[in-house]
Amino acid sequence: MQIVIASKNIGKIKEIKSFSNVSLNVEWLTFKDFKKFPDIIEKGNDFLENARLKARSISLHTNKITLADDSGLEVDFLEGRPGVKSSRYSGADATDKQNRDKLLKEMENARKISDRTARFVCSMVLWNPEKGSIFETRGICEGFIGFEGKGTGGFGYDCIFIPTGYKKTMAQLTQKEKNNISHRGKALSALYKFIVNL
Ligand code: IMP
Repeated sequence: MQIVIASKNIGKIKEIKSFSNVSLNVEWLTFKDFKKFPDIIEKGNDFLENARLKARSISLHTNKITLADDSGLEVDFLEGRPGVKSSRYSGADATDKQNRDKLLKEMENARKISDRTARFVCSMVLWNPEKGSIFETRGICEGFIGFEGKGTGGFGYDCIFIPTGYKKTMAQLTQKEKNNISHRGKALSALYKFIVNL
């Protein structure tokens, strides 16, 4: 079964592809497999709206079943920010480092680790070009924002996010360890359960 990944985020694509399931034969297609692949403006109010928007647009463009993941970080001390603005927290073309630096600065007054609770959220939508949305799910990974970046794995906010029950950041885990506990891993696990029954 071919599924297009509606994203140009290399870190995200790598994770989705790495979450293989031996009994299911999914061939992942990416923007690299198409001559034109539109950039979708994420104008939704929440992760699910944005995931639907991306899945629908890319599915209609490619005429193939498409998976969209809209995800981000919610920090309690910042009243849920950066949320849907996670990828552009410090500006439209912000780098991951600029986004992390801005967030760490805003957290300076949260001096106890218990004041630094946060979660990664991932809404996932599978879209069939003829039928519309055929599967929707949400994965959550709870944790804390560390005081400084640690580790080199993953992407985005991984090196400042410490999952609950761990003493390491997400960027210090192997890809397999991250997949087992991450918001995206949980959503992909539900997606595979759905696909197996198709
Ligand atoms: P999206 O492309 O709008 O879904 O942007 C997601 C953004 O949220 C990314 O650019 C990262 O900044 C952040 N993010 C989402 N998932 C992760 C993750 O697994 N690790 C670290 N950062 C993430």
